[in-house]
Amino acid sequence: MKAFKAFRIHEREGKIAAGFETMDVEALTPGEVVIRVQYSSINYKDALAGTGAGKILRKYPLNGGIDLSGEVVSSTDARYQPGQSVLVTGCGHSETLDGGYAEYARAVGDSVIPLPEGMSLFDAMAIGTAGFTTGLAIHRMEHNGQKPAMGPIVVTGASGGVGTIAIDLLAGRGFEVVAVSGKPEADALLKSLGASKILRRQDIDLGKRPLEAAQWGGAIDNVGGEVLTWLTRTVDNWGNIVSIGLAASHKLETTVMPFILRGVSLLGVNSSAMPRDVRLSIWKRLATDLKPRHLDKLVTRTIPFDELPSAFDGYIQNRIQGRTVVKIA
Ligand code: NDP
Repeated sequence: MKAFKAFRIHEREGKIAAGFETMDVEALTPGEVVIRVQYSSINYKDALAGTGAGKILRKYPLNGGIDLSGEVVSSTDARYQPGQSVLVTGCGHSETLDGGYAEYARAVGDSVIPLPEGMSLFDAMAIGTAGFTTGLAIHRMEHNGQKPAMGPIVVTGASGGVGTIAIDLLAGRGFEVVAVSGKPEADALLKSLGASKILRRQDIDLGKRPLEAAQWGGAIDNVGGEVLTWLTRTVDNWGNIVSIGLAASHKLETTVMPFILRGVSLLGVNSSAMPRDVRLSIWKRLATDLKPRHLDKLVTRTIPFDELPSAFDGYIQNRIQGRTVVKIA
């Protein structure tokens, strides 16, 4: 197999140095399945890894990119055949394994998901880790009894990859969705995806007491910190709050009051480390009953591989709306 192009991340003298290089398949981290990558995507975590703004890689050097979709070239795992369309999200790629920012990738058989029927390789990366995590969040909320009649669901960090897909999926399942966003320029997009109301993050009265007036049926939180504290104060009886991200802070100060007086549940999701049967079922749902309704609007950029290095800063500086798909092949 000929040498191919990869966006490779090194650590040199304590600093991140990343750029395009040429490498061979034999040099990739091990895995039973060799995949010719067609598309990848950019998640916040990819931008942190690619710029060094956050410590994501746990070994160096590695190819970046936590997501990939493409075709199987060869496999020693009998579940996969050459030519088969597959996707991989998370599972240690761009943490301890080479990722999807390369023309070829190797994955362990258990990480590979056969492309669900009705989903294209492009759609798989339009959804990517952001959409998979959102699907998982909704799955957990509904499993824990969340119903539209319980009241509106708040989505924070609403203009980002997870936020936009969350609005689309929740509204599609009959929930009223209230978006919290710091970007007035994203209002039209958020409304078109299904948000009934938009709260400006900077203008919210976060309250001080352990419990404030109950306003919400539940929440999907991408930002953490004092916004998550506010959600614990204001979600109504039996509501579910899913903690996905930490765009503002990894901290959470709260009391036991929301849990023991309102029966609120705080649910966590980790999209990377998931039992395979759950991953397969969430991906199947993302092609059926949890299929995003507005992927065309959610994907705000499709960029060629060459433009990848210049695309990360927008994420770090919080200038991005929606999802970015990277065309690798
Ligand atoms: P994006 O960068 O696409 O979106 C993050 C959004 O958060 C921004 O669009 C912005 O929304 C808001 N935001 C950014 N900075 C701040 C800030 N300082 N204070 C408050 N809000 C801020 O990221 P993703 O959607 O890909 O990911 C969202 C979060 O979820 C990240 O923290 C990511 O690491 C995490 N994540 C976790 C996963 C898991 O498995 N648990 C999986 C995937 C993501 P706005 O301007 O509209 O307010």
